[in-house]
Amino acid sequence: MEINFETLRGDVERALAEAMDIPSLEALRVRMLGKKGEITQLLKTLGTLAPDERRVFGQKVNDFRRVFEQGITEAREFLQFKQQSQAIEKETIDVTLPGRRRAIGRRHPIASVQDKLTDLFIGLGFTVAEGPHIESEYYNFEALNTPADHPSRDEQDTLYITDRIVLRTQTSPVQVRTMESMKPPIRIVAPGKVFRADEIDATHTPVFHQIEGLVIDKGITLGDLKGIQELAARHLFGENTKIRFRPSYFPFTEPSAEVDVTCHACGGNVPPEGCRVCKDSGWVELWGCGMVHPRVLEMSGIDPKVYSGYAFGMGIDRITSSLFGITDPRNYFENDMNFLAN
Ligand SMILES: [Zn+2]
Repeated sequence: MEINFETLRGDVERALAEAMDIPSLEALRVRMLGKKGEITQLLKTLGTLAPDERRVFGQKVNDFRRVFEQGITEAREFLQFKQQSQAIEKETIDVTLPGRRRAIGRRHPIASVQDKLTDLFIGLGFTVAEGPHIESEYYNFEALNTPADHPSRDEQDTLYITDRIVLRTQTSPVQVRTMESMKPPIRIVAPGKVFRADEIDATHTPVFHQIEGLVIDKGITLGDLKGIQELAARHLFGENTKIRFRPSYFPFTEPSAEVDVTCHACGGNVPPEGCRVCKDSGWVELWGCGMVHPRVLEMSGIDPKVYSGYAFGMGIDRITSSLFGITDPRNYFENDMNFLAN
């Protein structure tokens, strides 16, 4: 058998030099040493040769194989080294580059006011109660003494999901759910989102936030209610804040009152040039409250002859606007970082 080992060696050396990565090097190894590789084939022919021919040819093939294997090993080491250096180069940190600025988030103004109020009431022995956003008409209206012909049940004001299911228009359904599941004494606050079928404009958004309070116990009076409202107003707007009750009407409280708070801009002393915040009245109307209607107690299985209670519902958005001088509630929902950060 005539094999020009010089030519073969030249071919293989060229192939080794041309292998630019590990996979092509592996392909070359298989081409030569694999089951059907060229060197393997040569070794297989040894058996067919005469003994002295076999010795000489065998020597040459084995020498060639050794040289080839060494070539493969060296080429692999070189390629691995090259790969590592490239990887290290890529991962090098340039310590002179400026750092990436990380934006630090902060509480949404509505969430921070909600927390501030919740903290106050927890400190006064209230617990936090929650209820579903999707509510039955019964809990949202009927159990709150709001009959079917009441204007607030109009489809134009309420977002109906089906005939009898609504997006809650107030946090008050949580009151009813609590009275049904707890025995007095009850002291809860229920913060959360509420929904109305309002078009978005400078004074309305279809979703806003309330915090509802409910206290039921023996001997609860209007004086207790007023004391708590005063405390909340001072906690929000400062020690010198005063409140006044103005008679009002809510279906689920009797008597009911609007809570006015002294204007935090002018402190109730309207300057000669006038005050934009309170429109020169010295007072800002902020939330509503009242003594729980006996019929509401009765419907929830609480004896109004033994127990009495009060409830209040604060609009968190309105309080937040008042605190921060925000004139357009749409800002709360627009994810404008400039607004939220200031
Ligand atoms: Zn004012």
